[in-house]
Amino acid sequence: MIQERAEEYLGAIYRLRIDKLSPVPLSQLTDYFGFSPVSIHEMVKKLSQQDWVTYHPYHGVTLTNHGEEIAEALLRRHRLWERFLTDILDVSWAEAHEIAGRLEHAAPELVTERLSEFMGMPERCPHGGPIPPLTKNATDQCLASLPAGAQGYVTRISPELPELLHQIQEWGVVPKSFLHVVHQEEAKTTIERDDQIIHIPKNNAQTIWVKLR
Ligand SMILES: [Zn+2]
Repeated sequence: MIQERAEEYLGAIYRLRIDKLSPVPLSQLTDYFGFSPVSIHEMVKKLSQQDWVTYHPYHGVTLTNHGEEIAEALLRRHRLWERFLTDILDVSWAEAHEIAGRLEHAAPELVTERLSEFMGMPERCPHGGPIPPLTKNATDQCLASLPAGAQGYVTRISPELPELLHQIQEWGVVPKSFLHVVHQEEAKTTIERDDQIIHIPKNNAQTIWVKLR
């Protein structure tokens, strides 16, 4: 659950900071999570190796653009689930935060966006926190939802799941590559890229985003 842990940290930095440019001291993260300074330090090191945070010695950490995107997506899911829990399921205001903390990692983007529509695209969580807008390029679409015949350029891989990224790299279905959907089925998407036919299982196709040409 490295990914979940990483998201928690990025979300915490986003919540704790005064503004985008002010570093969050590591001591604040220690207090927030209740972990030892050593483990906070280690995690921050890992996050900066991934280019999700920038570490400023003696001052703390800020989010990179990439980290910012992940944190915003996390907060978006968290706050939308809070709205759903309180408004529709009548879960108490105080409990909703904790439950949303578990749902936010489990729900795929597609479900979150359906939830947003269902809830009438709310702008704030029940606690008053702003719900970040969808930061992704609104013109790209998930490969798993494209009809046969569609063609376009890969814009991004999201969410970035390490076990799936390897496979995607092997196929060469990386951002800016051009592909053509040959066949769309329940379990897989068949595409053509560089005269090569590739069968992409659904769980992988769901993380590939394409801007249609
Ligand atoms: Zn809230």
